[in-house]
Amino acid sequence: MTRRTPPRPVNVEELFPELASYRRETVRLHPRSGEPTCRDSSVGGPLLWPRREPWPECPEHPGSPMVAVVQIHRSDVPDLVPFPDGCDLLQVLWCPLHHAHGWVVPQVRWRSAAAVGEVRQAPPAPADAGYGQVPRPCVVHPELVHEYASWDVPYELWDALDDRFERVEQETGWDYQRHLSTAPGTKLGGYPGWCQDPEWPHCPDCGTPMEHLLTVASREGGDSRRAWTPVEDRGVRLEGPDLVLGDLGGVYLFECRTCPGRPSVHRFDA
Ligand SMILES: [Zn+2]
Ligand SMILES: [Zn+2]
Repeated sequence: MTRRTPPRPVNVEELFPELASYRRETVRLHPRSGEPTCRDSSVGGPLLWPRREPWPECPEHPGSPMVAVVQIHRSDVPDLVPFPDGCDLLQVLWCPLHHAHGWVVPQVRWRSAAAVGEVRQAPPAPADAGYGQVPRPCVVHPELVHEYASWDVPYELWDALDDRFERVEQETGWDYQRHLSTAPGTKLGGYPGWCQDPEWPHCPDCGTPMEHLLTVASREGGDSRRAWTPVEDRGVRLEGPDLVLGDLGGVYLFECRTCPGRPSVHRFDA
């Protein structure tokens, strides 16, 4: 079933013309509990992983297998995030054990689906994985939407808009941050789903600010962000990946699209 996010309930750029330049597109993945195969795009589903390649292990917990988090076939998503030349498959894994400096240690792989050949079965997830760190298998329903910066609005601009944000909320019931700015949930591109002050990383190789690749979120939105609930999901209890990342925050993956090998780093809400 497709998922359709309703348009913003008020015209953001008419009310706040200063935010027009902070408009971005993002692909909401809308993960829903299901039975994806390794040929499908998924959250927490089996990966199309070549038998000839070893299954990745956590660098901090040698011998402990990573778990599949996201797999995206390029043909399943709107053309927003450029895939590297020759690649049509994005795979993200992480180690679900406790780490001294964060909840998970993610790894990003790009590959050609046609070059995978014989497929390797994933080892079972570590029995001592942290609560809510292994996503439940979900199929995805990618949808391109637009959004506006939230935590990424510069302080001076936020100060200048604050009174108008409040007035609009009093008049319409819609809060800029929760209902009008960034799309909640797991998504490709667009703005990271920060719940706190942004911490955009710089590329470890070339030093330029990195691009947001993927947000993996604990929750898809829910009542507090009801303006983002897809039409098809109104009044429905969502069965999603059931992740618990920090205080129901997210993990944000960034990449440098100009350096060879596309270095990636991650951030998370503490
Ligand atoms: Zn680990
Ligand atoms: Zn770089």
